[in-house]
Amino acid sequence: MVLGSGPGGYSAAFHAADLGLRTVLIERHERLGGVCLNVGCIPSKALLHTAGLIAEAEDAAAQGLRFGAPEIDLDAVRGWKDEVVGKLTGGLDGLARGRKVQVVRGTGRFTGPHEIAVEGPEGTTPVGFEHCIVAAGSSAVRLPGLPYDDERVMDSTGALALADVPGRLLVIGGGIIGMEMASVYDALGAQVTVVELLDQLLPGCDGDLVRPLAKRVGARYEAIHLATRVTAVETLEDGLWVSFEGGSAPAHAMFDRVLVAVGRRPNGREIGADAAGVEVDERGFVLVDPVTLRTSAPHILAIGDVIGEPMLAHKASHEGKVAAEVIAGEPGAGYDAVAIPSVAYTDPEVAWVGLTETRAKADGIEHEVAKFPWAASGRALTLGRPDGLTKLILEPETRRVLGAGIVGVHAGDLIAEAVLALETGAVAEDVALTIHPHPTLSETVMFAAEVGAGTITDLP
Ligand code: FAD
Repeated sequence: MVLGSGPGGYSAAFHAADLGLRTVLIERHERLGGVCLNVGCIPSKALLHTAGLIAEAEDAAAQGLRFGAPEIDLDAVRGWKDEVVGKLTGGLDGLARGRKVQVVRGTGRFTGPHEIAVEGPEGTTPVGFEHCIVAAGSSAVRLPGLPYDDERVMDSTGALALADVPGRLLVIGGGIIGMEMASVYDALGAQVTVVELLDQLLPGCDGDLVRPLAKRVGARYEAIHLATRVTAVETLEDGLWVSFEGGSAPAHAMFDRVLVAVGRRPNGREIGADAAGVEVDERGFVLVDPVTLRTSAPHILAIGDVIGEPMLAHKASHEGKVAAEVIAGEPGAGYDAVAIPSVAYTDPEVAWVGLTETRAKADGIEHEVAKFPWAASGRALTLGRPDGLTKLILEPETRRVLGAGIVGVHAGDLIAEAVLALETGAVAEDVALTIHPHPTLSETVMFAAEVGAGTITDLP
């Protein structure tokens, strides 16, 4: 039994079926795919692609191409995004059918250690199971006291619905989701203000990786207020009157829409965990053994956003496969990944994996940093985007790669090589001596490794 059909749940269910287990997948929504496919990764990346086309057309002026202001057909933009989502979620139905995974629609709650009651359109059905994988995911955090009954106050799902392009948009939260949605609305023509409680955009990421992003959006957006708190949002007929405290923000300002992107909370409190003897912490995370992913009830496992940070689709799907293998009794099954990469699909993209410089300094971990600025990359220059940086964090004695960070266009694709380096225990020389195609942005990873290996010493 798999509870929830997001990237964690569908990966677990399909892998379990492939391993020969009779599998049932419970989902409360009509469409499979969870947050990621329906209201997360996929629709946001479709819209970010559209936004990127607009920004690229603007940038092309520097290369002698002038396109003029884009004509935006918002219904068609929305249609394109929905079409991409529809293809992927529809594909999941076919994959489930092909594997004989039985899909049960409805909201599931444990009613005992081996039973879930599924409340669906036709009433409540008890479904028994031998093993269960909880993949119930997460929901957007709501800031207390905000007028959510006013549709101009949105969460990421509302923002992705793209009802209109507001004249002035306030994004509360300068994390990955807030910054991605800010990029979309900025490109579509909204005047965007971002307010972030901490003193840096993308909190948790190294400052030198955030700088090129902060510089680019700083020039495009109406304002970015760091170390600032929103204290109230008042609904008026002609807008939302927002009060701020701290930072560089005015005391009050008027916006047409407000997007709240202040994090996500796990759905662990909504599944009747007690009835099955599954322990959930005070924040709503289901507690699991980090290797077997078993909960306090050993025949019930849990994966994805509902078990902890980082709340990322690729973590959920990897854990889904591990959980299916643990239940099927595959030899050596267990979670054993070295690192999980994070990517902000902003413009420029920011990606990092493993040890960050910030964490190394905070924890007193000895490390060396090898940096390659994209101003010295032929490919970055030909793209007109030298605003990037690739860096590796190395173990001083061995030059083993402990972490990596990349900012620049396509950083999210480039980070995969560094993830492989970490996973295989590569040293800087391994990457430096690997022939990379020229001229590509992937060379920046090789060049950073050459800096780390001491074979490049004369960077600007
Ligand atoms: P979810 O995707 O949350 O799926 C859980 C499923 O369980 C849902 O379908 C839910 O309806 C169902 N469910 C829950 N409780 C019950 C119940 N009791 N009964 C029946 N069904 C239930 N991650 C990335 O890696 N890359 C990105 O680019 C990215 N972009 C994002 C953009 C946005 C705007 C958002 C909001 C998130 C983004 N994420 C991204 C995060 C990513 O979506 C999540 O990490 C991922 O979806 C988690 O997968 P999951 O399987 O754990 O849970």
